Amino acid sequence: MSSLLSDANQRLEKALRYVSLPQDVVERLKYPKASLTVSIPVRMDDGSLRVFQGYRVRYDDSRGPTKGGIRFHPNVTLDEVQSLAFWMTFKCAAVNIPYGGAKGGITLNPKELSKFELERLSRGYIDAIADFIGPDVDIPAPDVYTNAQIMGWMMDQYSIIRRQITPGVVTGKPIAMGGSLGRETATAMGAFYAIQTILPKLGRHPTGTSVAVQGFGNAGAVIAELLFNAGYRVVAVSDSQGGIYAEQGLDIPSIRQSKESTRGIKAVYCEGTVCNIIEHSVITNAELLELNVDILVPAALENQITADNAHRIQARYIFEVANGPIRSDADPILASKGILVFPDILVNAGGVTVSYFEWVQNRIGIYWSLEEVNQKLKGMMTQETERIWATAQELATDLRTAAYVHALNRLGEGIRARGTREDYLK
Ligand code: GLU
Repeated sequence: MSSLLSDANQRLEKALRYVSLPQDVVERLKYPKASLTVSIPVRMDDGSLRVFQGYRVRYDDSRGPTKGGIRFHPNVTLDEVQSLAFWMTFKCAAVNIPYGGAKGGITLNPKELSKFELERLSRGYIDAIADFIGPDVDIPAPDVYTNAQIMGWMMDQYSIIRRQITPGVVTGKPIAMGGSLGRETATAMGAFYAIQTILPKLGRHPTGTSVAVQGFGNAGAVIAELLFNAGYRVVAVSDSQGGIYAEQGLDIPSIRQSKESTRGIKAVYCEGTVCNIIEHSVITNAELLELNVDILVPAALENQITADNAHRIQARYIFEVANGPIRSDADPILASKGILVFPDILVNAGGVTVSYFEWVQNRIGIYWSLEEVNQKLKGMMTQETERIWATAQELATDLRTAAYVHALNRLGEGIRARGTREDYLK
């Protein structure tokens, strides 16, 4: 099977048919700028020493310092981190944030480590990559199975190494360590603003629109709740263990509460302090993807929809909150079924957008209210969603290609500004 990065490159190839860019630009964007592999020794609680594999990839910095999260997951590989860094490059350009793209990861199952071990691992990772990152070079953030506390340890460790408090080196930190209000909910908020911008164009209204959300982490649980609160009928949700479905709709706030206290998802309906289990069926993650719903929101991991299951997808619209949930071989199948796909590099860009706001606040030393952050986020998401929608109409192409074209034009400007073959031979 082809690598994730070569699959990601297929989308670039397709978009290149719609823009005329100097060959220099195309050449530059095919390869990551730098990839670092590190071994992180960690003293475990039982006294033994375990060595973990970690990665950090800086894909392209022609628009600014590179930016992207760090994921802790058993399936992390260099190939995965490179494609995630590629997506970050296009994502930052798609929403016009002055950053290039990067990503990091450590191969492990974080659920098997104690909190002490996780702290030592997080600090050890920064010891290993400290010369590769920096507030003007490359700025990490949270991703799958990493959170504000982990970002706090990482910022603290970097500050110890540099002997300077350096809040701008990492985003998604705890508020008390220079984090931004609204960062925790930003990915879901951004996706919500994108959905709300698109919905009227599809002639739809939240009431009567059914939704299935795959993934119940920071992005999935929050988007499910935002949609529930706005009046959408959220009929199915899932986590890594499986999902639940109820035709009449699920009470998402109660499910979030039950997930927090029991670590599982149950279809509970709460009134006051009394919670009743409501009629629901238990489904698998694969079944959730194939439900007959209006909107499907994959908010877990990559490659969930491929040529193997694409023909069974029944949703009318897919909003990619995860990075890379649809493999490129599924694109033509979904298109032939008339399913509209709203791409990750737009839909989940709210996270990195508020990361950018956090970095700006760290640099100016002035902190914004939650209202200010959300208002700025809404402005950016609405504007770029409108532009990508318009590009798709103009070029008569799909929304993913339109988003890549939109991003490519901006990346092209950054690369071109440094001179291309055409300038030198003029
Ligand atoms: N991990 C998030 C993403 O994939 C956020 C990255 C960031 O905030 O830098 O977009």
